[in-house]
Amino acid sequence: MSSEIMPSAIVPTYVRADVTFERGDGCWLTTTTGERYLDFGAGIAVNSVGHSHPHLVEALMNQGGKLWHTSNLFQMPEGERLARRLADATFADLVFFANSGAEANEAAIKMARKRHAIDGNPERFGILTFEGAFHGRTLATLAAGGQAKYLEGFGPKVQGFDQIPLGDLEAVEAAIGPQSAAIMIEPIQGEGGVRVVPAAFLRGLRAICDEHRLLLIFDEVQTGVGRTGRFFAYEYSGIHPDILTAAKGIGGGFPLGVCMATADAAKGLTAGVHGTTFGGNPLAMAIGNAVLDIVLAPGFIENVARLGLLARQQLAELKDRHPQVIEEVRGEGLMIGLKLKVPAAGFAALARNHRLLTIPAGDAVVRLLPPLVISDDELSEGVRRLHATCADVEAASPSEATVAAA
Ligand SMILES: *Cc1c(COP(=O)(O)O)cnc(C)c1O
Repeated sequence: MSSEIMPSAIVPTYVRADVTFERGDGCWLTTTTGERYLDFGAGIAVNSVGHSHPHLVEALMNQGGKLWHTSNLFQMPEGERLARRLADATFADLVFFANSGAEANEAAIKMARKRHAIDGNPERFGILTFEGAFHGRTLATLAAGGQAKYLEGFGPKVQGFDQIPLGDLEAVEAAIGPQSAAIMIEPIQGEGGVRVVPAAFLRGLRAICDEHRLLLIFDEVQTGVGRTGRFFAYEYSGIHPDILTAAKGIGGGFPLGVCMATADAAKGLTAGVHGTTFGGNPLAMAIGNAVLDIVLAPGFIENVARLGLLARQQLAELKDRHPQVIEEVRGEGLMIGLKLKVPAAGFAALARNHRLLTIPAGDAVVRLLPPLVISDDELSEGVRRLHATCADVEAASPSEATVAAA
């Protein structure tokens, strides 16, 4: 194998499992040596409609044969259509297209700061974020996440981000000052370990933002586009943000990020104020529209909600049968976290032995993020493989699991 002879020329920022996938089909991935894996990771909530969905392949081939890229200096009918559809399906009036979650969040941060600047308040650039948050790996989004381990060694932290304990409205109030511009939150923390933020807390943030004239930003990069059993997770809270970002699931595997906003929130982003070379190019727009064709089809998101409930029933049983391994099942729709009593990376490795892919997260959690097109049978098959994984954990170190539980 060439990888054994030649050292990798890729910067080693990732610890990669020794598995190489060659093709995908729906919820299944096949390795170069012919093993089939059930995919409960979906490329970290990205392959929202599964692998090689015929409608997406068709959109890629059609657009790929016509036009890939023209720059944003020209009209973009497919982009106009995607923006209109997103606006019609949500609280938003306007959409900015980017290529990733971090870039969508950069747009959101700049939009919020500029909104105050055009009101004559450029000193209002402070953004309150939450402990355990993850907003991306650019310098500003790292500062927004505030995790010391990711910030270290990269020079001065970008100014204007303060982290508040999640769920503490009084602490939010106390942190607001004359410099405050916005509050930014994931309605369900993803990388932080599938921590669901109570609707009452989100409503409290809305009220605080209204009172202090702050912009409310929801980072739905992971929760968006049907993942939680709603088109966007804000719908659960009964309020809406002023600015919302999405990325992972919206391109179905093609890099695409969006920053959506009310007309008022976006008021500062006029010609020349912000930009991107690739963002919103015809290829990305064609695929984004194809994803929406599927996700916004009647009954699709309702089915995700139903599958989420089915999963929760089966996983509650899993927890009951393996109390030494699983502490809690949490999440919404098909964004599910298993809080473990054992290390998440080791659990995910054992699950891979049973040809099941899961994604470790913070707080000793493995995430289950299957493609939204998963069938009832595939869901049950995944849970069977989780049972087998739990049995392995118990067999490997029964006493250790008990100790960890104590
Ligand atoms: C993944 C993620 C990001 C970063 O997205 P990238 O595409 O990796 O830049 C930002 N916010 C949340 C909530 C995420 O889950």
